[in-house]
Order: sequence, then structure tokens, then C-alpha cells
Amino acid sequence: MKVTDHIAKSEGKTLFSFEILPPLKGQDIKSIFDNIDPLMDYKPPFIDVTYHREEYTFKELDNGLLKKQVVKKRPGTVGICAAIQNKYQVDAIPHILCGGFTKEDTENFLIDLDFLGIDNVVALRGDAVKSETYFKAEKDGHRYASELVSQIQDLNNGKYLDEELQNSSKTDFCIGVAGYPEKHMEAPSLDSDIHFLKKKIKAGAEYIVTQMFFDNQKYFEFVEKCRSEGITVPIIPGLKPIATRKQLNLIPHRFKVDLPDDLIMAVVRCKDNKAVRQVGIEWCTQQSKELVAAGVPILHYYSMGRSSNINAIAKEVF
Ligand SMILES: Cc1cc2nc3c(=O)[nH]c(=O)nc-3n(C[C@H](O)[C@H](O)[C@H](O)COP(=O)(O)OP(=O)(O)OC[C@H]3O[C@@H](n4cnc5c(N)ncnc54)[C@H](O)[C@@H]3O)c2cc1C
Repeated sequence: MKVTDHIAKSEGKTLFSFEILPPLKGQDIKSIFDNIDPLMDYKPPFIDVTYHREEYTFKELDNGLLKKQVVKKRPGTVGICAAIQNKYQVDAIPHILCGGFTKEDTENFLIDLDFLGIDNVVALRGDAVKSETYFKAEKDGHRYASELVSQIQDLNNGKYLDEELQNSSKTDFCIGVAGYPEKHMEAPSLDSDIHFLKKKIKAGAEYIVTQMFFDNQKYFEFVEKCRSEGITVPIIPGLKPIATRKQLNLIPHRFKVDLPDDLIMAVVRCKDNKAVRQVGIEWCTQQSKELVAAGVPILHYYSMGRSSNINAIAKEVF
């Protein structure tokens, strides 16, 4: 079922959903199920599965030269989606990227998803590969998520890359895209970022999931700005509980989001990570309760492969 239909069916009640990462190559799928199992008590209508593009590593050879190797550390997005739908009978939502995909790869990926009975996709540009500073599209790929949304929407209209295909069938994907309450790190301003967000909606996206934020006011202001720019689709807040002291530096660096001073000081006062985890749970629970009171359609949690803190929050909120 489509995310938009789940929202319509909920009749104003806030739903619970979460995102998982495929395990590192070599690990089995049991770790994924172990994380999902306890969260099924809160009846998620869907579970997102992230996509991880290839990375480059450089291996030193005997002659001192460096050999470039291309590795995918977390493959398995599509397989995990199929396994989730099969085991739990909930919708699995794969993320799909511009990065590392040609248009032909994208089309074939979408055909697989369609055949698997997947009804939703989240369309993203992806980041630059780790060893590079700027994002580079494939030679015959997409530069921005809006272009990827257009290709998915073309397929929804039965338009394939080979326009001579006869009797081609239409897909029917509901498309989600990313939004950034504190602007995307490369955007010169929030206004320009929202301008391009609107382009993704015009191209066919039907809902937005936000980057994590730790101050609800940022989300409320973002939604207000989007609405005043004519963006009417649901804007699903994305939340992540802080779990370690190291994340105080890591999260602002990696995601370019601010942490409120009260949260920072509460973490600084903690003796160990067990205490930090508790602070993170309490902070995120308060954020969640306020967002539910404000009537958000869904609370979407970034589990980062650890579900016990999400479980503790959901117990208080749902
Ligand atoms: C909910 C969510 C889920 C995510 N899941 C994943 C995942 O599974 N895997 C992964 O690798 N990454 C994931 N990411 C990270 C995401 O790939 C990065 O944040 C990436 O840098 C931007 O992706 P985007 O889709 O927002 O890009 P875009 O919407 O293409 O925007 C990228 C930048 O370009 C600007 N821009 C857009 N269009 C134009 C234009 N036409 N001209 C000029 N500038 C333009 C925007 O303002 C922005 O600064 C996720 C992020 C979020 C918020």
C-alpha cells in the first residue's frame, strides 16, 4: 500500500515507522530481524531500507603503487525489502539513489521492485563517494533527485527509456523525497533548497521525509515555509535519539544539523554512554510527544541498526 494511503487510512492518528540499514557485507539477515521484531509491536505501516553506494579503497601493491578497489560495504537493499514484506507483511520502502546508477540501471532496479510488489520508493541523490568532495553523477545518470523522480514518474506513465517498447506496462510507485529543515549542506540558503524541493514535488513526489532534527521549532518553521511556497504533500519528521557522546561532534559534522545547548549540556554531564543513551531517549520522547500533539502524520525514526532505544521511545509515545 502507498504511504499516502496509509496516511489517509490513519484518520489523523500519528503512525510509527522507522528506517534500517542493510548489514555490513558478511553478516546475516538475522541481525536485521532481531532489530525489527520488537518494533513490530507498534504496528509500523512501512519500514524504510537505506541504499549504500560503492566506496573506493586503495590497496598498496608490492611495487608501491596503489590499486583502486570498488567495494559495496552494505549491499542487499532489495533482498532485505523482499524479506521484510515476506516475513512481516508490512510495506518495505527501498531508497534509490542517483549516485552510482545510470538511467538504465535505475530502470532495471525499478522493474525488480515492481515485480516484487513494492509500492513506494524514496528517491535521493546520494552523497559524494567517500574519497571525493563533490557528488558526481554517472555519465548517463542523474545529477539531482528531481531528475530521478521524473524517471520514476515516467515509468509510472508507462514511458521506458526505449520508447519503441510495445505494450509497455505502467508501474505505480508512490515516491518520497528528502527535505532538510536546517537546509541541505550544499544549499546556499534554505529558500533555494525549498525551491528545489518543490521541483521534486512537481516532478511527481508525493511525500517528504525530513533529515533528523533535535529542535522541533526547526521542523515547524520548515513546514510553514514549505506550505507558504505551495508544497502541500505530507512532511514526515525524521527523528534520531542520541546514543553516544561521540555523536555530539559526529552528527553536526556528518549531517550539518544543530544540537540545542540543553541537549549538549545534558550529554556532557553524563558519566558514560549508558547515561547518554538515556538522555537521548528522554529528549527524543519529548520531541515525539510534541510532534504527535501537533498532529504530524507519521513519526519516522532513524534506527541506525539499533532498535532498543527506538523501542523505549515508542513505548512512551504509541
Ligand atoms: C530521509 C533521508 C533518507 C536518506 N537515505 C539515504 C540513503 O538511503 N542512502 C544514501 O546514500 N543517502 C541517503 N540520504 C542522504 C542524501 O542522499 C544526501 O543528503 C544527499 O546529499 C542529497 O540527497 P537529496 O535527494 O536531498 O538531493 P537533491 O534533492 O538532489 O539536492 C541536493 C542538493 O542540490 C540542490 N539542488 C537540487 N536540485 C538542484 C538543481 N536543479 N540545481 C541546482 N541545485 C539543485 C539542493 O538544494 C541540495 O543542496 C538520505 C537523506 C534523508 C534526509
